Amino acid sequence: MNCQNCNIALADNIPKTPVKDIRHILTKVGIQVNWTDNGFICGNCHNQVFEKNAVGVYNYFKLNLSNDQFTQTVLNSGLRWVTIAQNELQKNPSNQTTITTNEKELERITLERHDEFKAHWNKDKTVQFKNDKIAILRRHVGGQVQFIVAFDQVTREGFKLMAIDEGKSIDGGAGITGGISSFYYFQKVG
Ligand SMILES: [Zn+2]
Repeated sequence: MNCQNCNIALADNIPKTPVKDIRHILTKVGIQVNWTDNGFICGNCHNQVFEKNAVGVYNYFKLNLSNDQFTQTVLNSGLRWVTIAQNELQKNPSNQTTITTNEKELERITLERHDEFKAHWNKDKTVQFKNDKIAILRRHVGGQVQFIVAFDQVTREGFKLMAIDEGKSIDGGAGITGGISSFYYFQKVG
């Protein structure tokens, strides 16, 4: 068995990566390779191809891994391509958003990250959810002042109100419109 890229013989003591494990990453960042899917590439070639496309690969993992996984497998890996990517991104921060998901990938992320997000979801609180990019506030009877405090705070932090969900109507409540709770969706854009 030989490396699909440099053709070196892959002895047991040479690190190797199955082509099928990295082809979708390479395709995603715009690299076409003519390696066969059931073959392997050697550790050197793997590192080289990641180093040459460091920012793309970094963004790919950032988008597809949870924060914890990303820290463990990328940030703490000590690999040279990670440092290269970080340096490039520091020089040119606009490269940070070059990759987007397709519908299948996004669906998969919704399942993979479900538990992680749910752990920070407070269904019945004023602050239903908040991270560095989004905030969802809940306004409810008896919680108006808390809502105002949270609204004020997220505005100070630069979040913008993008949408309002008036919530479920009260069924059979004669003449009552609007929900028991309403929801306010904020995003930190840029
Ligand atoms: Zn090789």
